[in-house]
Amino acid sequence: MNTGEGGSALERAWVRVRTRLRNEYGEAAFKNWLKSLTLLRASGDKVVLAVASKFWRDWIAAHYGDRLVEMWKNENMGFNGVEIVVAPVEARNAERPRPDAPIEPPRLNGDERTPPPGAAPPQVNGDEPRLGDVQNMCTPLDPRLTFETFVIGKPNEFAHAAALRVAEADDIPFNPLFLYGGVGLGKTHLMHAIAWRLKHRTPSRRVTFLSSETFMYLFVKAVRYKDMHAFKEQFRTVDLLMIDDVQFFGEKSATQEELFHTFNALVDHRRQVIISADKPPVDLQGIEERLKSRLGSGVVAQLNPTNYELRLSILQAKAEHKGVAIPPKVLEFLAHKITSNIRELEGAMTRLFAHCTLLNSREISIDMAQEVLQDLLRANDRHVTIDDIQKRVCEHYNIKMADLLSPRRARAVARPRQVAMWLAKQLTTRSLPEIGRKFGGRDHTTIMHGVRKIEELRGGDPSLNEDIEILTRSLTR
Ligand code: ADP
Ligand code: MG
Repeated sequence: MNTGEGGSALERAWVRVRTRLRNEYGEAAFKNWLKSLTLLRASGDKVVLAVASKFWRDWIAAHYGDRLVEMWKNENMGFNGVEIVVAPVEARNAERPRPDAPIEPPRLNGDERTPPPGAAPPQVNGDEPRLGDVQNMCTPLDPRLTFETFVIGKPNEFAHAAALRVAEADDIPFNPLFLYGGVGLGKTHLMHAIAWRLKHRTPSRRVTFLSSETFMYLFVKAVRYKDMHAFKEQFRTVDLLMIDDVQFFGEKSATQEELFHTFNALVDHRRQVIISADKPPVDLQGIEERLKSRLGSGVVAQLNPTNYELRLSILQAKAEHKGVAIPPKVLEFLAHKITSNIRELEGAMTRLFAHCTLLNSREISIDMAQEVLQDLLRANDRHVTIDDIQKRVCEHYNIKMADLLSPRRARAVARPRQVAMWLAKQLTTRSLPEIGRKFGGRDHTTIMHGVRKIEELRGGDPSLNEDIEILTRSLTR
């Protein structure tokens, strides 16, 4: 079948699906697995995708198959399923899709979970690292992600201190270190920083940094090679094991089990383990209780959503590092407007720099930033509204909106009100007087007081902290 006219629509849909995959599963998973998928053609009500080997095909089918099918269905192009075929790289790279390329297509109907039992080990070819070379599968450390480039502020000071402690200790201060927080708030950065510092201090120490995807990959591979022994051995010689984004383990119970054993073995051998996730251990979905409690048994440190001061410091640091003079007013503007996360903040800076380099005569102004970053600013604007916050807080604490906005000072409403004020300050770009108006016409000093109160209480009140986390997460998706 030739894709003809529809080809470009199909390709555009594929670009959207890929973008969605990337957003949903994160950069690491995308790079490790999904990027290797290529679009071959449409075949009836199915989309045919290709990968280089049977092993990859089985893996992708088992882990991403359901979502792939859903995403294609959502494209509303009449697709009901996805076939992943094994096709040689040349065929996939050919300018035009080759209709005769497919070999052994498994049908993904949403039930296919794991590779067929007893299947022969896949041939090891270029893109499949041999079992035992965990070091080769290690995500390389990024030289930009060090303690020196990590800007410290209230939202991340505890996590930073804990990370530094691990990096500088001669023994193991606590095990594991569990870092958690929303996307783009510095988890991976801190992990790399620890690894750099540790390697710098004691070059002989072996550091392994794995995405949870890679960990799973190695595990599944070991199962297929029937070589769990080698799998375990390769971790035994590691001094510091870091696994990033363990929330992706999801319901893969065998991998969880293995993580648990690996983890116990490492701790028993007095090795340091560092784990990151998007939520604290107790909230991880589909992870067994004993693993959760084990993961939470060291130090659990949160990377909180950024505040204005941290955003501004980061922008200043980045501008200075780049040697680009950006007027303070512009930095302040960006720190006010781009509140989602640090990655977006960096993205904004990169775009501004690029723009300036291209049109080197133009100086950076707020107007220019507004023009160049239109879409980013709009996305951030839409982020969270004070109304959303108030509604969600009322639901969470089970109080009435009228009470939240009333002058009542009973603790049962006053505290949730302060939480809502704090969230409004953190998650929106509204000024204190604007927030005051939204809270039954309160003065901005009252808002400031509320915000400070919560800052003060948070440190010593885990249940308040937990409320805030839950609310922040639900508001920021
Ligand atoms: P996460 O792993 O939590 O999703 P990352 O560690 O990848 O986030 O951080 C996203 C981007 O923001 C990275 O480029 C990182 O260098 C940068 N970043 C995060 N926190 C800081 C910080 N405190 N100071 C400087 N840059 C930071
Ligand atoms: Mg990360």
